[in-house]
Amino acid sequence: MRWLPPRRVLSIGGSPNPEKELLDLSVGDPTAYGNLRVPDEVLDAAVGILRGRKHNGYAPSFGLPAAREAVAARYTTPAAPLTPEDVVMTVGTSGALELAIGAVANAGQSVLMARPGFPLFRTLAEGMGVRVATYDLLPDAGWEVDLDSLAAAVDDTTAAVIVNNPSNPCGSVYSAAHLAAIAAVASAARLPIIADEVYAGMAFDGVPWTPLSSVSADVPVLTVGGLSKQSVVPGWRCGWLLLHDAGGVLTSSGVRAGVRALTTRMMAPHRPTQALVPTLLSDAPAIVAARGDLLRTLADHAAFAVTALAGVPALTVLPAAGSMYVMVRVDCAALGLVDDAAFVAALRSEESVFVLPGACFDAPGYVRLVFCAPRGVLSEAFARMRAFCVRRVGRK
Ligand SMILES: *Cc1c(COP(=O)(O)O)cnc(C)c1O
Repeated sequence: MRWLPPRRVLSIGGSPNPEKELLDLSVGDPTAYGNLRVPDEVLDAAVGILRGRKHNGYAPSFGLPAAREAVAARYTTPAAPLTPEDVVMTVGTSGALELAIGAVANAGQSVLMARPGFPLFRTLAEGMGVRVATYDLLPDAGWEVDLDSLAAAVDDTTAAVIVNNPSNPCGSVYSAAHLAAIAAVASAARLPIIADEVYAGMAFDGVPWTPLSSVSADVPVLTVGGLSKQSVVPGWRCGWLLLHDAGGVLTSSGVRAGVRALTTRMMAPHRPTQALVPTLLSDAPAIVAARGDLLRTLADHAAFAVTALAGVPALTVLPAAGSMYVMVRVDCAALGLVDDAAFVAALRSEESVFVLPGACFDAPGYVRLVFCAPRGVLSEAFARMRAFCVRRVGRK
């Protein structure tokens, strides 16, 4: 008998080419290369909060009032008004997702998520005994939801639909009309939506980003978001859950009370960070400038991925309209490789470029690239990917 049975882990075989510096385009952490940064003004405000010694105690379990007010003010819309009472501060967006899934689904029920989709949804749901079913996205229609497949995925056990916009891993940004069409399917099935909007506002080149709750009419929406990506501080572990209580359903069904009860297990996130939320969500000049810089950089990098990988044999980039990710379709057979995991392993061992296989996102035949790294790193990584594909296609 062992203390712990062996665990199953996804592993990518082989190691990077020791002759070449590893270029890692795999992790969705915008701080990884140090080029995207939180402004000094925010750090000064953080030091002021610590020195003030007013935030060393516990905060209310659902969050610090000033933070909840700031989040409500930032994300309220005329169609889906929010008050601080509708905001719960959480340990990152992940914590908000855990609360949302836990509050709407009982063990044995299921939630629907997109395929391709962000694997954390499954990890959290299955950890609570909640099953996951998937609906399809349409890669050649901007990764829009296949509405028929969404409707078909609903069954008696379905408790909620999870929608992630802008998308990790797809880099897609949905129109208001498409979001309304998704909401209409949920409405017909009388299902609440969990809207993962951690990339709120992170849409490029004037593409408008629409909060799902603003077009979802009678559908109750639990929106999750956080500081991690938009403020470039994932290590600060601060997020929020927004309750859009259409028709009072979240109250009458007990979800609102359930969320409150669940917050008492872990208490609210790091209190000094919560105290900083009003600054981070403000329109102070330094914050507005940092937001603009981040968006311009990401938009530039997203466009660069398309031009730099154009014409690479066996690769097709599906352009990103937002977030920090782009999906690349890989013709594995043309490269003499069995699947996307084999592509990732070979690219890493030959060229020391690391990307994630589509297999991580239920997207066989694709790889996901993170385009946060500096232009120079991306340029070198894309050149190596080109050399890799040219060499492999030639060898076949
Ligand atoms: C990064 C990410 C999260 C988790 O964010 P945290 O705030 O770091 O917990 C949740 N959903 C999506 C789609 C993400 O990409």
